[in-house]
Amino acid sequence: MKTDMMPANLRVENLTSPRMIDTANPRFSWCVAAQGRDRQQGGWRIVVQQNGTVVWDSGKQDGAECFGIAYTGPALQSLTAYQWTLTLWDVDGGASAPQDATFETGIMGGVWPAGWITTPPSKGAKPPEATLAYRNRFRSLNVSNFRREFDLPGPVRSARLHATALGHYRFFINGARVGDDELTPGFTDYHQRVEYVAYDVTDMLAEGANAIGALLGEGWYAGFIGLDMKRPGALYGRKPQLSAFLNVTLGDGSIYRLETDGSWTHFIGGLIYSDMLKGEKFDARMFPTGWDSPAFDASDWPYAGIGEGTAASLVGAKSPPIRANKHLRPLSVTQAPDGAWVFDMGQNMVGYSQATFTTLKDHETRFVHAEMLDADGNLYLENLRSGVQEDIHVGATDGVVTYAPSFVFHGFRYVGIYGLKGKPSLDMLTGIVIYNDLPETGSFECSDPTLNQLASNILWSQRGNFLSVPMDCPQRDERLGWTADAQVFAPTGAFNMDIQAFMTKWLDDIVDAQTDEGAFPDVAPRANSSQDGAPAWGDAGIILPMLLHKIYGDAHIVDRMYQPMADWIAFIRRHNPCYIRENANHNNYGDWLAIGQETPNDMVATAYYAWIVQLMAEAATLRGNREDAAYYRELNACIRDAFAARWVSADGTIGSGSQSSYLIALHCGVVPAALVTAAVGKLVANIEAAGRRVQVGFLGVRHVCPILTEYGHADLAYHLATSTEFPSWGYSVVNGATTIWERWDGWTKENGFQVPNMNSFNHYAYGSIGEWMFGWMAGIAPLAPGYTRILLRPTPGGEMTFCRASYISPMGQIRSEWTRDGRSVRYRFDVPANTQAEIRLPCTEGATLWVNGAETAADLRSFYGDSRAVLTVGSGQTEIVVTDPDG
Ligand code: BGC
Repeated sequence: MKTDMMPANLRVENLTSPRMIDTANPRFSWCVAAQGRDRQQGGWRIVVQQNGTVVWDSGKQDGAECFGIAYTGPALQSLTAYQWTLTLWDVDGGASAPQDATFETGIMGGVWPAGWITTPPSKGAKPPEATLAYRNRFRSLNVSNFRREFDLPGPVRSARLHATALGHYRFFINGARVGDDELTPGFTDYHQRVEYVAYDVTDMLAEGANAIGALLGEGWYAGFIGLDMKRPGALYGRKPQLSAFLNVTLGDGSIYRLETDGSWTHFIGGLIYSDMLKGEKFDARMFPTGWDSPAFDASDWPYAGIGEGTAASLVGAKSPPIRANKHLRPLSVTQAPDGAWVFDMGQNMVGYSQATFTTLKDHETRFVHAEMLDADGNLYLENLRSGVQEDIHVGATDGVVTYAPSFVFHGFRYVGIYGLKGKPSLDMLTGIVIYNDLPETGSFECSDPTLNQLASNILWSQRGNFLSVPMDCPQRDERLGWTADAQVFAPTGAFNMDIQAFMTKWLDDIVDAQTDEGAFPDVAPRANSSQDGAPAWGDAGIILPMLLHKIYGDAHIVDRMYQPMADWIAFIRRHNPCYIRENANHNNYGDWLAIGQETPNDMVATAYYAWIVQLMAEAATLRGNREDAAYYRELNACIRDAFAARWVSADGTIGSGSQSSYLIALHCGVVPAALVTAAVGKLVANIEAAGRRVQVGFLGVRHVCPILTEYGHADLAYHLATSTEFPSWGYSVVNGATTIWERWDGWTKENGFQVPNMNSFNHYAYGSIGEWMFGWMAGIAPLAPGYTRILLRPTPGGEMTFCRASYISPMGQIRSEWTRDGRSVRYRFDVPANTQAEIRLPCTEGATLWVNGAETAADLRSFYGDSRAVLTVGSGQTEIVVTDPDG
């Protein structure tokens, strides 16, 4: 018997057709596509084959499971291509058409099999004047070119290049670039873990003469990182190294192998420096045109130096790579008072600019990037601190050239060009937007244009800051994986994009940075700023795995993180034996950058402590560890008692009585049940007294609208979310923001720019309101891990007349839409196959409820401080009209 049900979105280790699987039991996931209503998967079967031979057959398994299914066949071989075929059955026993997908292994449990090369010890090949001059100024190295020619004795059947570096690389074969990834390998603690990437280069090679070349830049390994500019590169290493191997299967089945070794040659080919924080200088006069083609004569290039290699483990990259995902055209070009031609990209973006322009021999053209213009209309660069967002091109001949930098990224809306010959044309410049190429999963629209722009700003701040790690900001000398920013933003980020693979990689960075004593870091990977132990920051090491479990049903990450998480709790306990988390010897940033109201840092810290211990109890339960679960529950009770004794008054006042005191305490579950209503009342009174304005920082902000909505004050949440009065999200929007600002007062009409040393215009923490827009306005949330059961709790409010959102969950696409029309609200939902949704709609007694055209009696229950009609639906479309008798 056949079914129309189809497997969709087949993934291995959360990636589509990955090429670097190096885990012994990779996990398979898929979605179920099926028309009609109430469609459930009844069974599945996976068959894995290698070269036509079956290596694992799961056999037909009954059940609806569709993610995290581990391969349990015989050991997978290294560097091998596998095909897997998935067949589904519906609940009536009908079988789907089988669906094929592939994965390839990287190096399974083995040793990285290639040598390392680096700049040769002799100075002969370097242009000494340029190198020394620029190194003195920037303390930055030249980018090296490496090159090797080789002959293939037969036609090519398939070929893979595996590459890595201590630094950043770009490979070229026979004149063309290999792959389209940027800033590879990713940011890790290079003392511990270095990623490699595999490329399919089959079509780039041919029988006979071939040439392979590589650029090697400093990257995160040896370039400038973070805030401490005194020791560039000292943290990981000073001398970049490159390693790669090429495996070519020839037509007759034989293997041709090439690897980086002393037979490669070396040259400095025009990239005087190329640094993420310092920009790039490219001197076209030194560029060896044709260097990556076999016809090039490199007989005077010296041989490459032999690198020492690394003791770090080499791992296949786990996340989709950084790519140029968007190309922006400028809106306008004008001349600034200081003479620069300023292009307005119309969008604060992250990446670099590519320009086609006329130059002269020896002429310098400078491209300077800024997020804002100052009051005079010149580029505003002060907020970059010691960051230099400037790329310089030196012409080799008179004529038209196209130039883009290689190993840099800038945060900018404006590009100012200095030294341009003649007047610019608008189409000479393109903004290349780079970020990890994660599938975008969300869409959001409502009747308020300001909120729609805010949704766009949030997404753009995510695009701007998901660069190998979740960064704080992309422009100044920082660009680090600050842990609190990421945990506060992650629930929003997960609506916008599939963040599972990206965050899984970053959790490895967090674990690598954990101290022997158990402290999680404030930034991961650990960079120059080597602090750790901060509440709400280090707590990301528990909050994120549990979030990945909730959203993606990922039990594996909880297993992997369980011991590090337990060590973190033990660390906190040891330093704070009385349950109050004073955190005396470590950082405590508190409700960072709060405006208007202060919240005690130790109060915030203790509330978070209770929350993460509660999460730990859940993790223990999930793993069937009852003893641990009981221990953490008891610890949680002790912390709650201590919290209440210190910070909760009998009238429901909490902490300093600030908005964040209430919000964080309520979210973290430390308000005694009997006082919750009183505490919510005080929160509302505070907001009213503050002129219906937010007075919160990085930590409180996430909870403002969700907590108000959850406790029956949706209208106030709508007011805050749509307000344009200072301070508010809308204030930045009506003042031209196209990304989320670091500070509520980053720029104000009265005072202009805030202090320049801490004023990013692309910092996603305040964008954590996106969770409310998807999760409460549109009302999409997981009811069971991985959205196997879905909660739909849309909450119309304020002046809003409609809202529509969609989210591609791990189970498939969910849609939620509502339109208000007088006393009626019309809801439309799409629920994916293989799930069920519990719909909870605001509804009063006496309201009429039409479900798919038929009047239905409302099952009224009380949630979130108001009553809601509850019904459960299977997959398919549902339309409901609720008409309220009271208007
Ligand atoms: C970063 C923040 C971070 C904070 C911690 C700042 O410099 O930009 O986003 O969380 O430091 O103190």
